Amino acid sequence: MDIKDLTIKKVQEGLKGKEFSAKELTDEYLKRIREKDGDIGAYLSVFEERALKAAGDIDERNAAGESLPPLAGVPVALKDNLLIEGAVATSASKILEHYVASYDSTAVRKIEEAGAVVLGKTNMDEFAMGASTENSGFHPTKNPHDPERVPGGSSGGSAAAVAGGMALGAFGSDTGGSIRQPAAFCGIVGFKPTYGAVSRSGLMAMSSSLDQIGPFARTVADAELLFDAIRGHDDLDSTSLDLPELEPLKKEDLRGLRIGLPKEYFGDGVSAAVAKGVEEAVEKLKRLGVDFKDISLPHAKYGISTYYIVMPAEVSSNLARFDGVRYPGLPEVEKNAETLRDLYFKTRGEGFGAEVRRRILLGTFVLSAGYYDAYYAKAQKVRRLIGQDFDNAWGGVDIIMTPVTPTPAFKFGEKTDDPLSMYLADIFTVSANLSGVPALSMPVKPYPLGGKELPVGFQLMGPRLSDKKLLHIGKFYEEE
Ligand code: GLN
Repeated sequence: MDIKDLTIKKVQEGLKGKEFSAKELTDEYLKRIREKDGDIGAYLSVFEERALKAAGDIDERNAAGESLPPLAGVPVALKDNLLIEGAVATSASKILEHYVASYDSTAVRKIEEAGAVVLGKTNMDEFAMGASTENSGFHPTKNPHDPERVPGGSSGGSAAAVAGGMALGAFGSDTGGSIRQPAAFCGIVGFKPTYGAVSRSGLMAMSSSLDQIGPFARTVADAELLFDAIRGHDDLDSTSLDLPELEPLKKEDLRGLRIGLPKEYFGDGVSAAVAKGVEEAVEKLKRLGVDFKDISLPHAKYGISTYYIVMPAEVSSNLARFDGVRYPGLPEVEKNAETLRDLYFKTRGEGFGAEVRRRILLGTFVLSAGYYDAYYAKAQKVRRLIGQDFDNAWGGVDIIMTPVTPTPAFKFGEKTDDPLSMYLADIFTVSANLSGVPALSMPVKPYPLGGKELPVGFQLMGPRLSDKKLLHIGKFYEEE
């Protein structure tokens, strides 16, 4: 079976026309995982039996003439911070190596109700903290385009699984760029929805006011179908909401569409490859009739400093629950603890990796008496200003376009000794999380599976709740 040009639409047609069965499709992907993932390391766990059973159920329904749900038979991968009842969920942390989830996340429940076949759980930076997947407590993941380079992070495993042809689609979480940056590094599409568009119930929380679940796919059309399956209000997450229904955009609507290019995103530090790539994308959109305007988002330069105060503050609180008592997972460490206090110290000290401990310390510091006003409270005020920049921009433009990352994928080890240089990988992505707006990362041009050239991405951001519009614009770009 040739999966090179496979899309969700082709899966729907193929199953309907009985060209292949869901089981054959799943088998093909499982085979590719067996052959390739030893080198790439995209997965932390693979569910052969469970996947084949789900595929078999779809085939039975198809044989009985039932109409199939939208993602029927679509083989997908899930980031390991999404809970599936009865399956190990580690968030790539040693402290949760043996933790088995006791309920399904809402997103996973919806994905399975839509008929998708879950192939397994993917590698990530520990608790989603990082931009290269080098912070995984288990192993790094390689970029399928160049094994000497990182796939990005923190959802690097999900991106590599799709780019390496080891899943047709995948899901990840994006707190400061963790879907968009790995998508750009791996030459695929990644989408961070409006804050609240997807329920966070059953997503292990990193920074609750920033986290969003979203899809990875090889095309925007596929990303939209994956997103449609998971979005919507959920009683289990009071921040979740329904998007307004939108008439599908027509190609003619792109004529006169106003896209802003913020000058703060095109200055020093943007590599020639990225600058050239974004320019190519601008030219292509111009051919579709889009008008471009230079704009300014004056507070964008404070994005990283604001994010690296707000995020660790929430991390320090969210990660307080993990210890050897509520989450026993380190029997060797627990055995050596002499007192209860010792048990807490040892399990948290040894179970968490260096980056996670660093952020818990930073977060505790910025929230502590005497520093709270100077750091945390001030960062919240700047966060508001960053959001207001966007609100002001929507007066003059419909959409904002920027690079996703300053450079294409970097090499292993290049940034591990200097956490600040790693943090700067998020310079163009954090503002969307701080302000809650939707953001789509797409490759400048389509990349063949395992191609040798390094991919470059560009980012489209729109007003809150404009998710579908962004995706429709992306689809026209892709067709062009
Ligand atoms: N790379 C960013 C960080 O390290 C973003 C992480 C994310 O979006 N989960 O925090």
